[in-house]
Amino acid sequence: MKQPARTWADDDHPHEECGVFAIFGHADAAAHTALGLHALQHRGQEAAGIVAFDGHHFHAHRATGLIGDIFSRRSVIEGLPGHAAIGHNRYATTGASMLRNVQPLFADFAFGGLAIAHNGNLTNAGTLRRELVGRGCIFQSTTDTEVIVHLIARSEKATIIDRLVDALNRIEGAWSLVALLDDAIIGVRDPLGVRPLVIGRLGEAWVLASESCALDIIGADLVRDVDPGEVVLIDANGLTSLHPFEPAPRRACIFEYVYFARPDSVVGGRGVYDVRKRIGEELAIEAPAPADLVVPVPDSGVPAAIGYAQAADLPFDLGIIRNHYVGRTFIEPSDQIRHLGVRLKHNANRATIEGRSVVLVDDSIVRGTTSTKIVEMVRAAGAAAVHMRIASPPTTHSCYYGVDTPEREALLAARYDVAEMAALIGVDSLAFISMDGLYRAVGEAHRDRSRPAYCDACFSGDYPTRLVDAEGGTPRDQFSLMLEDVE
Ligand code: AMP
Repeated sequence: MKQPARTWADDDHPHEECGVFAIFGHADAAAHTALGLHALQHRGQEAAGIVAFDGHHFHAHRATGLIGDIFSRRSVIEGLPGHAAIGHNRYATTGASMLRNVQPLFADFAFGGLAIAHNGNLTNAGTLRRELVGRGCIFQSTTDTEVIVHLIARSEKATIIDRLVDALNRIEGAWSLVALLDDAIIGVRDPLGVRPLVIGRLGEAWVLASESCALDIIGADLVRDVDPGEVVLIDANGLTSLHPFEPAPRRACIFEYVYFARPDSVVGGRGVYDVRKRIGEELAIEAPAPADLVVPVPDSGVPAAIGYAQAADLPFDLGIIRNHYVGRTFIEPSDQIRHLGVRLKHNANRATIEGRSVVLVDDSIVRGTTSTKIVEMVRAAGAAAVHMRIASPPTTHSCYYGVDTPEREALLAARYDVAEMAALIGVDSLAFISMDGLYRAVGEAHRDRSRPAYCDACFSGDYPTRLVDAEGGTPRDQFSLMLEDVE
């Protein structure tokens, strides 16, 4: 088997960051879906797709690129007529060969057509896939989502909902998904509720979206979250709620609050901006710094830095300026370019920093690339001292539930303790918020070790499901390698 040179950003392992959107009962369903996906662009910038149903036929458009580029031409939206549509954007490989992975996936079943879009990652998709291939299934993509499609096809249940539930009962991991049928849309959240999914209303139309910012952009009202383990079926009769799965203790992803969700979204009933500010306040109490100035690493560190400055009673100023025409740091394809990316993206603002002792606040340290470059830059701009405060506990473990993190060995905090990290990054002091501090910021008194209310596996290694593929030795990128063999 050919082993291509791989990097974290250019591989196509089947776990991915994504945004999903669905609308039912609106004359401009596809245009609204494109707007919703645009608001969710931060959840995936590499590719997107929309599938619409016009009462007779399904229409699909999928491409690599940003929503604004893919769906800005009127002819594209006009090619997606109908009152119901779903959409998806994803973080994955660029390149035409991977177009087949762009969701929503569509399948023509004996009972009719079904399009499906998924945010999250399944921890037993590899194992199931091997089993399905062994029974003659032919896969078209490397996505986990296609495993769900094959399980639906093979289910012997009578109704589509029963088939879907049957399929979902076999999978493990995190899934927030939306589906489009010829007369309905469906939204489902896994029993732990790891990834978010909300319900909105726009006049008579119903909307489902990964985050509430996708409702705001189209003027829809937030109704509520889809509950963990809930299936919502939306058709001409309105919304029907089902709870077909074995109930489980809620374990929503805490990293959505730290970094992933947009600050103007309401996730799990809590404003993300507010939580981030409170993280900064907690951090100021836990880890004060002898500084003149609080400086955020933009944009991800801004709300926590505001909270830190307010609680520490220190001035807040923009000591680092971000160039907004560069994508997220992680999107660049190789280590070399990723390093360059940090310099392309940020520049120190000498006017505010020179001669001052600064506290830099960022949301997380993953590989340490961003922090190292930023500290270098801030020192070169004349800072007298640099203290770094991080609005999450050390990231010591990879995510298997849909946030793209590197393998464990590449995580700085998996290899070094805080003092060693401080020396490597080149700061005068370094502190991370404690797990209890983070839990207080999201509204829990503390982290109850026996029953944590969130999935915090990236900081604790406490994975709320079995990691079937990983434990069985299936690497996260096995199936892209299989496909590269075929190409
Ligand atoms: P690093 O340079 O590898 O330490 O990455 C840390 C930076 O990446 C922080 O500034 C975060 O804002 C950002 N970040 C953290 N997690 C992710 C993620 N899963 N995807 C993209 N960016 C991230």
